[in-house]
Amino acid sequence: MKEPGSVTSLDLIRKIYPRANPAEQSVNLLYDIIRQKLDLKPEQILHADSICCDEVNTLQYPAAASEMIGAFKMGGLSGYPFAGLAALNTAAQHIPEHGAMLISYGPHIGVNHKGVAGELRRTGQCGDSICCGAVISSLQKIKEKLTISDLNPEDNYQINRVQQILLKSENRLMTADNPIIEATAVMYEAIDEKIQDLISKSELGVRHVFIAGMILINGDFDQGAYYQYKRLEHLDTLNNTRVSWLEEFNSKAE
Ligand SMILES: [Zn+2]
Repeated sequence: MKEPGSVTSLDLIRKIYPRANPAEQSVNLLYDIIRQKLDLKPEQILHADSICCDEVNTLQYPAAASEMIGAFKMGGLSGYPFAGLAALNTAAQHIPEHGAMLISYGPHIGVNHKGVAGELRRTGQCGDSICCGAVISSLQKIKEKLTISDLNPEDNYQINRVQQILLKSENRLMTADNPIIEATAVMYEAIDEKIQDLISKSELGVRHVFIAGMILINGDFDQGAYYQYKRLEHLDTLNNTRVSWLEEFNSKAE
């Protein structure tokens, strides 16, 4: 129960991401919209996600999401869809009869109990650590003008790719009020662009596809995760139409 005048984690997170909601609530609200519009139940939906492989995302995975089939994991460091087109096409082959598909994706960022972006308190630790480590360590290299390619590419394929993506926005990052929040936005744009590219090249073989792009916000270990959706769409592959549900979602989430 919230004390009058007390500040909750959600209040602090909304200072950075004004449309953020607890992950559990976000998933349930999405189910409500899908049920209402298409009469589909969560167990008819194959869920493919592209989020960072950091264990905090496993620990804070919303329980409601397990009502769907999945998740088929497409993401590597920072949530970039490193598993690529083959993964998307394979996931689509696992959709149940008369079912649908949800593709959710996005970079993640820690926000600790003081509202500091890029940090969180992890389970069993007594100090805060950085999150997303891939994004923040890459940003640090760019700041210090360190050579990006000094990592053995075979051992560090994914982090090299993240660094290359961020390096393309060097000026934007170095002049931002908060480079960590900005780098997370840059990663969102890169992930979103790649996901749309993969969808355009894919053979999904299903009529209803739900596309959920977000910033995934990790609170401290005792707080869980929050989503701020940036894209929430219904792709009807039969009519080749896309309809945004974002406004409706946000009005329900108030
Ligand atoms: Zn990460």
